[in-house]
Amino acid sequence: MTLTKDVPLDEVNPFESMMSRFDHAAELLDLDRGLYAILRKPEKQLIVSVPVRRDDDEIEVFTCYRVHYKTARGPAKGGIRFSPDVSLEEVNALAAWMTWKCAVVNIPFGGAKGGVVCDPEQLSLGELERVTREFAFAIADVIGPDLDIPAPDVGTDDRVMAWFADAYSVRAGHAALGAVTGKPTALGGSYGRASATSLGVSIVLEDVLRRLDKDPAGLTVAVHGFGNVGGHLVPLLCAMGMRVVAVADAKGGVYAPHGVDPEVLARHASQRGTVADCPDTEPITADDLLEAPCDVLIPASVERVVTENNASKINAWLVVEAANGPLSPEADRLLTERGVRVVPDVLANAGGVVVSHLEWVQHREGYAWMEKEVNDRLRRTMLHAVEEVWGASDGWDLRLEALSLAIERVAKALRARGRYP
Ligand code: NAD
Repeated sequence: MTLTKDVPLDEVNPFESMMSRFDHAAELLDLDRGLYAILRKPEKQLIVSVPVRRDDDEIEVFTCYRVHYKTARGPAKGGIRFSPDVSLEEVNALAAWMTWKCAVVNIPFGGAKGGVVCDPEQLSLGELERVTREFAFAIADVIGPDLDIPAPDVGTDDRVMAWFADAYSVRAGHAALGAVTGKPTALGGSYGRASATSLGVSIVLEDVLRRLDKDPAGLTVAVHGFGNVGGHLVPLLCAMGMRVVAVADAKGGVYAPHGVDPEVLARHASQRGTVADCPDTEPITADDLLEAPCDVLIPASVERVVTENNASKINAWLVVEAANGPLSPEADRLLTERGVRVVPDVLANAGGVVVSHLEWVQHREGYAWMEKEVNDRLRRTMLHAVEEVWGASDGWDLRLEALSLAIERVAKALRARGRYP
């Protein structure tokens, strides 16, 4: 049975782009046709138009999405993105990614994602809170600790999650704080959650380097994106002994052949809102960073920063996808053909959802673990996932191995429920 469609992969929409990888894995697994049909579509898509009063008293209507991709393995789980570029197709793709990601690291969640079409940088703090609250009210029927548990993503943070949790609790009539993860610790957020995605990336990277018989000390690395993920990741890479030679964000980038000082960079970025012009560095554009000479490239910004247009110019021999979907399928193919190893997003950046799961478990227990306990559990889960995914390809096609593992787990859950083949 041929499942893969013959379309130019770099021209399709974000969902089809993501699902072209799913199709490839499903075809190799010889997935049952009925299961394929079920797994290829989102379970539930909610679109809401949310009126919010701006500071100048004008009413603006924001378009918002929440998608449950699959819930066969447990409640839906996935972040909320505030960005002007959010679209239904993007949210569908991200929700599907979450489904596979939760399955790869074997936590009992399905996949979801949400988004609000807005530019958080153009909203005052009060406007941001009102948008968050109205969004929470509007999607409250599909949210809940046993139903769908949102978390932060691009453009949102623990403060946004706190407002969301409060709005949801107001509507529920009691403190329903387990409906959201990535909250501040004052509201039951887990210790270690803020840095969990980055710590997970560093754990996976260290283990992959060990399997490749490479010493991290002295290896050069470039990081594209300096937000929640990239910002926490740079000091962890430096602590591993790696030399971070380039970092960029949406406003500019820095190149430092001898390696950046992570503390100076963090201080500069928090004062200026960008890494650009950090002392003792040279300027580099975010696009040029991708092609900079380095051993390891870590895209930690947004989707599709490496496409067929620049894949052949990547100098790194290892790419670790800290962001979701930073490589287009065509770029993926070109890099693999050139012998560049790729650690896929569904494995590399799963640390955030692993600790979100731990936050959810702690809330159910009414207990808070110390950060060391959380980080130890995260480490065990990530290392186990790398072991399972390394698999038959000996680390050469980690994306295919990871997706195959995920699809098999979700399909097994569907079959076990008994209604399907
Ligand atoms: P964020 O909004 O905190 O940071 C994004 C960073 O990317 C910022 O520094 C921004 O300036 C930069 N950026 C945006 N566009 C850019 C461009 N064109 N060129 C260079 N830099 C650019 O987001 P985040 O939470 O750090 O998430 C980053 C990626 O990681 C996203 O793909 C997200 O889905 C994924 N991710 C995040 C988490 C998490 O826990 N936050 C978990 C898993 C995956």
